[in-house]
Amino acid sequence: MLPEARERAALLTDVRTEVHLDLTSTEDFGVEATISFGCTRPGASTFLELNGATEVTLDGRPAAYAEGRIPLPDLAATNTVRVTARMPYVTDGDGMTVTVDPADGERYVCAHTSMDITQKVIPCFDQPDIKSTFDVTVTAPSHWTVLANGRLAGRSTGTTGDTTHDTWTFETTPPFSSYLFTLVGGPWVSVTWDEPYAPAPGGTLPFGWHARASQEHDLRRFADELRRITSTCFQHYTTVFEPEYPYADYQQVFAPGLNWGAMEFPGCVVYRDQALMKGTPTELERQWMASTIAHEMAHMWFGDLVTMTWWEDSWLNESFADFMGYDVAGTAAGYTDAWTSAAITRKPAGYRADRRRSTHPIAEDTDKIVDVDTAFANFDMITYAKGNAALAQLGHWLGEEDFLAGVNTHLTKHAFGNADLAAFLDSLDSASDHDVRAWAEAWLRTTGFDTLRVTRDDSGVPVLTREGSRPHRLTVSAYDDDMRLVGSRDVHLGGQPVRLEEFAGRVVVPNSGDETFAVIRPDEQSWAAITAGLSSVESQLTRAMLWWTAVDLCESQVIGVGDLVDLADRHLRPETHPLVFEGVMKALQSVTRRYAAPEDVAGHLAVVADLARHAVEGGVPDLAPGASRALARLSADRTFLVEWLERGDEVDPGVRWAAVHRLAELGDPSHIDAEAERDRSVAGHHAALTARAAVPTPEAKAEAWDRLMGGELGNHEFDAVAAGFWGWEQADLVRPYLTRYVTDGLDLARRSGQAMGDVIGDAFPSLPLSTESRLELRDTVAAALEGDVPTVLARSWNDSLDDLQRTLPQA
Ligand SMILES: [Zn+2]
Repeated sequence: MLPEARERAALLTDVRTEVHLDLTSTEDFGVEATISFGCTRPGASTFLELNGATEVTLDGRPAAYAEGRIPLPDLAATNTVRVTARMPYVTDGDGMTVTVDPADGERYVCAHTSMDITQKVIPCFDQPDIKSTFDVTVTAPSHWTVLANGRLAGRSTGTTGDTTHDTWTFETTPPFSSYLFTLVGGPWVSVTWDEPYAPAPGGTLPFGWHARASQEHDLRRFADELRRITSTCFQHYTTVFEPEYPYADYQQVFAPGLNWGAMEFPGCVVYRDQALMKGTPTELERQWMASTIAHEMAHMWFGDLVTMTWWEDSWLNESFADFMGYDVAGTAAGYTDAWTSAAITRKPAGYRADRRRSTHPIAEDTDKIVDVDTAFANFDMITYAKGNAALAQLGHWLGEEDFLAGVNTHLTKHAFGNADLAAFLDSLDSASDHDVRAWAEAWLRTTGFDTLRVTRDDSGVPVLTREGSRPHRLTVSAYDDDMRLVGSRDVHLGGQPVRLEEFAGRVVVPNSGDETFAVIRPDEQSWAAITAGLSSVESQLTRAMLWWTAVDLCESQVIGVGDLVDLADRHLRPETHPLVFEGVMKALQSVTRRYAAPEDVAGHLAVVADLARHAVEGGVPDLAPGASRALARLSADRTFLVEWLERGDEVDPGVRWAAVHRLAELGDPSHIDAEAERDRSVAGHHAALTARAAVPTPEAKAEAWDRLMGGELGNHEFDAVAAGFWGWEQADLVRPYLTRYVTDGLDLARRSGQAMGDVIGDAFPSLPLSTESRLELRDTVAAALEGDVPTVLARSWNDSLDDLQRTLPQA
């Protein structure tokens, strides 16, 4: 933390913010804020942040406003300041974001804040450990609905000239950090209800789901499920957490232009508008939605009620919410296989992140967070996926009851305040006899992960050994030669090897319940039986963990891509669990693109396409949505794809777009315009951009490139064009762009913000390239990184270089 920030947190008390926002102009918006606060050292001075404002006044006079700050000199014991300003709208998702819906021309305005972005919307003391109450009023067009952090208190109509507009007034909120401030306005369609909650006045709280008017059909179609997940999670959290739900309502909005997947604004959670399901969602998509709803709601306590003191403890928000998200989606919302999906999708992202040079302790070193861009880059898969897995292991190691007791002590003790790692450990320690500080030192303050290896002694007794440094509590299971379960055992594994006498001669699988974060290396006898009988393992969670082990062996170049594809050819055909099937299919496509020799790729992907076809035709209805998308993306059969499109509404819109994209990639772009006409949604707009960028001619690539690097695209549009550009069969065609990606991408990143830097990094070419091309790409990126690269892009490129390095032939 900067000394200046530390000093300001010590100086200010009892901050209250009244703010009126005027959204009636489409040119810019008006802010009037009255901020009152106490000062512990009268005579001292401080400052408010306000970023990008024009016409700034302080207490009615032009303010001494410079470099995004309004100085507040010579403070009294109590102070009230009044600031007015005109502020710009933005389109990059960092600030007061305006989106015009291509489907109907309606305009939406969303204050997408978080981190240090709230200062682009209102004047504030913009740091997490200074909390303020907020009294918000908003004036906006009369046909809109406006939602904000507080509960709606009233609405009145007024006129200026010959236009009418309404003013929405919201109740005073409890105190929260500036980065959690939001409001969203537009002609939303809404599904609302009164959620039973005994402590609330009247016994209920207003709840709602909101989406753009053009998404009404999908909102209504999924409303029952969205409401059911919301209610069951809320009833669960308000039962297990001791502090009451802190806010006066709970609104959830599919908000356009959001850069994050979702954001936990108190009482007013926003999701990317693409997250609203369409057509027939796949099982992974359904499970993601449930886990994300549970994740954001957990933040009402973890993050919003109790907030990390500074960004090095962002894990206290995110690791907890991520863990709760998967856990509560399972225990409360009925997505009982959420941990199976975590085993094959979420945890692997954590292992991959932990192998890179950019890995860091889950609880980061304070002095490493040098600025907000560095903090932003640490909202990564160490903080989410690995932190989630470590907390799951902690709960298993401590026992659920003690874990929850410690968590409740933490929430109660620091309610409406801030806390750090030491405070959290104090709370856990008070609830448990275990040495939680030693556990935290081993798990939260280190990098990397352990390997759990099985060997055999001379008499065939399996011996489990830890290579690494962490204590583990895990299930070890034994199987017969046909992979039928014969027994399981709870094992505490530390520095001493554990002999598994009772499993002599048996196939042994450590971590069969996937409780710990460590990769496994079974002995030769066990691995032979596993690869022969993987689909016979009864537990889908164990199968998912074993599939990840096979993917990990491939990414570690212990087995070849061909071996992995062969394993899938044998054991994915009998697979009936949709999360395992879909998760493995995704992994196969990604590994093939990155690791296979270019000449082998078509053959491997033909096998994967055939697996998809087998699942589509195989009569297991749950597999069809995911398999259809994969088949449409991988099929080389143009006639089959065109026939699919001719079947009209019978085929899911996501599958239709996958087929249009694939046909364009195969050289037939004739279906793009018709499909874009058919689907005028934001998703359709993005899918059309992807398909156009996929057309395999030098002219189409040149046009897509100019569009990509022209600086006119929004972040999601950039993602969409990049997703089509690097076609997996197009290495020769896009080769000239490998170097240009680095030079043009860097130019664009220098002209843009944090969020654009992130999507430029995500557009890193991940198509099958010859070793020579990979080396050339590596050297070009490495050379660029020697110069001045914006922080967020530099982090992303360093990670991509590490990933690329793993695909090169190992010396
Ligand atoms: Zn979160």
